[in-house]
Amino acid sequence: MENLRGLKDFTPEELAALPEITPAYRAGQIFTWLHRGATLEEMTNIPKALKQTLSEHYIVTKPEMVKRQISQDGTRKYLWRLSDGNCVETVLMFYKHGPSICVSTQVGCRMGCVFCASTKGGLVRNLTPSEILDQIIFTGLDAGVRISHIVLMGTGEPLDNYDNVVQFLKVVNAPGGLNIGHRHISLSTSGLCDRIDRLAKEQMQITLSVSLHAPNDTLRRQIMPVANAWPIETLLDTCNRYFKETGRRVSYEYIMIRDVNDTPACARELADRLAGTGSHINMIGLNNIEESPLKPSRRESVAAFQKILQDRGLTATVRRQLGFDIDASCGQLRRKYQREQQMGNNEPGGNGKT
Ligand code: SAH
Repeated sequence: MENLRGLKDFTPEELAALPEITPAYRAGQIFTWLHRGATLEEMTNIPKALKQTLSEHYIVTKPEMVKRQISQDGTRKYLWRLSDGNCVETVLMFYKHGPSICVSTQVGCRMGCVFCASTKGGLVRNLTPSEILDQIIFTGLDAGVRISHIVLMGTGEPLDNYDNVVQFLKVVNAPGGLNIGHRHISLSTSGLCDRIDRLAKEQMQITLSVSLHAPNDTLRRQIMPVANAWPIETLLDTCNRYFKETGRRVSYEYIMIRDVNDTPACARELADRLAGTGSHINMIGLNNIEESPLKPSRRESVAAFQKILQDRGLTATVRRQLGFDIDASCGQLRRKYQREQQMGNNEPGGNGKT
């Protein structure tokens, strides 16, 4: 059962080409049903025999909602249980430009960034394209909204699950389904250079965000092990190449960690590296995680850091934080749930202030 392909892994064209789906025009109908969250049973205008054949060869995944937390600011956080029992998190945020969803791409993560809760238990497995899509479909249904923007910034390193993530990007963009344009999708990566080069060749209009978090290798290696494999110089060259090949400027994420990477010297070094690239720097407040001694920057350091970048002609914005009261970041809910399970306590935890 577990090894069957998910039916939501396919684009409409791929569905039409499946030997089980005849006549081929049924593919479009099935695709639309699937992406509205329907099970085979619920597809009322599809012949029983066809549904029977499909159920023998494929699965229609449907995650079970384990938890839902709704923040005072409207942000919603979900914990979903997948068909094999693993859990993943999804966050829905409401911005002026529309409802934006942050989805996970892996169960756990193997990048080992010291500030991140998602990686503490290592990588369990990759999500399939269906499982990435399901987070959007079922969150949209539960919240009763049409989701307009997607960020691949939940648990996992999207480029470490390259094939499934690229397939997901093709399916989510297809007419008849969710049909969300690539310009409304951001993919965040810790910086796997070979994969960034490969992604450039796909010629998708998505926004690539790179988690930089430090202006030099010495510091970056202390907080992001991936920096040992890919030096910052190589990473920035790769990002420039990505821009040349796709016409899409790469943006950089920079978590502000108190007295670690938030000094004026760090800001100046970062400005030296990025000046002239027209890059956007997204400064992010560090969310405390229990396992880590790192602290968020002081307000004054954030302002000073931003000013140094702006004075050098860079655009640097400080990301507004949503969902403060519901652990809405980076694997926090899943970690908490795991701990509760270990302690034999199934009650939702209190408002773990982040
Ligand atoms: N693996 C990808 C995408 C998932 S992480 C990446 O590294 O980009 C999404 C973003 O959240 C990254 O910029 C990551 O560095 C950041 N992040 C991780 N832990 C965080 C924390 N405790 N506080 C704030 N941001 C965090």
